[in-house]
Amino acid sequence: MSPQEVLAMCRERDVKAIDFRFMDFPGLWQHFTIPAGKLDEAVFEDGLGFDGSSIRGWQAINESDMLLVPEPASAWIDPFTELPTLCMICNVQDPITREDYSRDPRNVARKAANYLKSTGVADTCYIGPEAEFFIFDDVRFDHTPSQGFYSIDSIEAEWNRGADEGPNLGHKLRHKEGYFPCPPADQLMDIRNEMMQLMIESGLDVECQHHEVATAGQAEIDLKFDEMVAMGDHMCKYKYIVKNVAHRHGRTVTFMPKPLFSDNGSGMHTHISFWKGGEPLFAGNGYAGLSDEALFAIGGILKHAPALLAFTNPTTNSYKRLVPGYEAPVNLAYSQRNRSASCRIPMYSPSPKAKRIEFRCPDPSSNPYLAFSALMMAALDGIQNKIHPGEPLDKDIYDLSPEELAEVPKTPGSLGESLDALAADHEFLLRGDVFTEDVIHTWIEYKQKNEVDAINLRPHPYEFCLYYDI
Ligand code: GLU
Ligand code: MG
Ligand code: MG
Repeated sequence: MSPQEVLAMCRERDVKAIDFRFMDFPGLWQHFTIPAGKLDEAVFEDGLGFDGSSIRGWQAINESDMLLVPEPASAWIDPFTELPTLCMICNVQDPITREDYSRDPRNVARKAANYLKSTGVADTCYIGPEAEFFIFDDVRFDHTPSQGFYSIDSIEAEWNRGADEGPNLGHKLRHKEGYFPCPPADQLMDIRNEMMQLMIESGLDVECQHHEVATAGQAEIDLKFDEMVAMGDHMCKYKYIVKNVAHRHGRTVTFMPKPLFSDNGSGMHTHISFWKGGEPLFAGNGYAGLSDEALFAIGGILKHAPALLAFTNPTTNSYKRLVPGYEAPVNLAYSQRNRSASCRIPMYSPSPKAKRIEFRCPDPSSNPYLAFSALMMAALDGIQNKIHPGEPLDKDIYDLSPEELAEVPKTPGSLGESLDALAADHEFLLRGDVFTEDVIHTWIEYKQKNEVDAINLRPHPYEFCLYYDI
């Protein structure tokens, strides 16, 4: 869509407000709005000024004035606003130099896509994420300020409620059996359908939606794969629609990876493939029908996984999901079919076009632009440096003997460990100026101070359970 077509769309749809969207550094969509009458062709050229100093992770810049430059092709009508509103995804620029801002996550993804082309290895990286999330009735932490801590019993009872509450007419999902009986056991069919429908109307290509394993309202909606920058945009819209449909129904959604103790967490398994000249590069005659490029890409992903997880699993909560027993990967290995390996080669289709790597570590707390870019750069490094992935692990990794298991490298145990790994291993991300030293440094500092330290410094509710009466 061109600027003229956007303006025509505004007239045709009687649009009254124009909403400008961009992603902050940790990964939350931001916006501001202008009256539709203020949108003209110049806005697409000159952008709109805003104060970038209050945006998370961007504070360090001396020049707080920044520009938002809308992408006309991204225009769509917001399905939630009362006043007809057209939204556009924007790029962030310095108003003086007109350079793209290095800490704009979308800019990182655009640079990553361009860098891939410039290497000649491939011209396109396709990404297919499978985001999972929880739909809850409400959030009640039962905070009692006088005591200064949360009651762990009430949190767990609240989160895990379902099994013991009231008459249930015999159609209640049982623990870990949410995947995937029909309604009436599945009570979230209508709400997921509404999310799916609004996604389609907003221009997303939805492949399927279903209940997930956790019984307390876990859902998954899958989008058809797309080019990596476009998929970053899609995931912003996706989360916006999911959260707002839930809100409209008096429910609430969380994409935090492990909201419930002792139940499955939410992952965002990410499928990746490289293409060149319209041909898939990952299909071949090697293991699981993979090409050498694909096997080297796996080598790169597994080699850099500890550092990569600082972007694909970027919250302290992410590492509560990456534990054995909940279908989340804990071992850095690859395999066809095997869902317990962190890199899986899906065998659903014999078509070379469907050949891809599924990296199962990522979760939906990640900033999609940064997570997809880092994953692509790790795969690319594997190809460029012919990093051999080692032997596949075709047994169920959870059934290995302790000796066999000890030989398999593990995912980091905490965000702190991943950040340390990123500090030590990020040269592969700097190529093509995709992630700058400043972006890596700011990410590590932001996450360490605001999340790792912030959690470590606070007494945990469960510590009261363990230690109060010591
Ligand atoms: N929820 C699981 C995870 O945390 C994945 C379940 C599945 O295989 O889709 O990765
Ligand atoms: Mg799935
Ligand atoms: Mg799933």
